Amino acid sequence: MVFDLIKNGLAPALFARLPWSVLGTLVKVSPLIPYYHIVSDSDVPHVKHLYRFRNVDQFKKDIDTFLRSYNLLTLDDLLEALRRGRSFPRRAFLLTFDDGFRELYDVVAPVLLQKGLSATFFITTACLDNIDMAYHNKISLVLEHLSRMKKKAPEDELLRILSERGIQSPDVRTALLRIDYRNKDVLQTVANLLELDFDCYLTTRKPYLTSEQVRKLIDMGFSIGAHSIDHPLYSAISFEEQLHQTRASVRALRTRFSLNYGAFAFPHGAGDVSARFFSEIFAEGDVDVSFGTAGMLKDVFPRHFERFSMEYTSAPAERIIGRHYARGLFKRVIGRQVTQRT
Ligand SMILES: [Zn+2]
Repeated sequence: MVFDLIKNGLAPALFARLPWSVLGTLVKVSPLIPYYHIVSDSDVPHVKHLYRFRNVDQFKKDIDTFLRSYNLLTLDDLLEALRRGRSFPRRAFLLTFDDGFRELYDVVAPVLLQKGLSATFFITTACLDNIDMAYHNKISLVLEHLSRMKKKAPEDELLRILSERGIQSPDVRTALLRIDYRNKDVLQTVANLLELDFDCYLTTRKPYLTSEQVRKLIDMGFSIGAHSIDHPLYSAISFEEQLHQTRASVRALRTRFSLNYGAFAFPHGAGDVSARFFSEIFAEGDVDVSFGTAGMLKDVFPRHFERFSMEYTSAPAERIIGRHYARGLFKRVIGRQVTQRT
């Protein structure tokens, strides 16, 4: 109890008061790897009910904040350092984006090009070319549809359908947000009931990147990685399925875009992913490097890097980075900075 209080509040709050130069020296994590999903000034119905994202002005300020204290590292630089067994430059940062939304082409790339910067985009391959929609984006779309319905929503019927799938909640919104990868097919039943057409949304809105846009992004100097086939939580699928989701998505992108490297970012992070998984996937040669979402931490596998989120808040970059530094330092102090895997 007391330890939890210190862990969750007191120690990180105290550490967050230290200057970055001190925190950086103490935390010893380089490069810093922030991750985003989307940047937009518009309403994004398939994302807005899931997390708060940066608008263009906030994103530009984030980038300026990074550039004041750090130098950009590209995925190429990172892979080259790994190949040669070199350490990474101090005060470096690598920019990454997950899920492969169209805004990477429409919004993010123009901002970064203007500043002479590059980034790595991780694509969920089933969504590429707007073939399918990731289940969590469908949940957001259902919530948006419910909020705009003119007639009363059939809430009892919705709760009954979800309850039959083991999702219990007195509140429709909470119940919908509890749908996970394993029971994602219930979303089609929900959509049918609400007369919501996911395919129509995919065709008209085109929420994800197309292959043509990805090719243009590569030509502009951006790098591409895989983010699985259809975004499962890895700890909730079998070992064989983990391997399949990783291999198939990385190989598909390497082949389609003639990439001479393989990068992979775990959907929902790499928590509980086994040492055997990393040993196998790195030994095969398709995946050169992987990325998680656990914060400013290290991993026992030197080709796996953890990242920290710049979303879920409207706080300025200084405060977000300070908080992640503070948590990283706290983990270091209690001897849990390096994730061990069994
Ligand atoms: Zn994702």
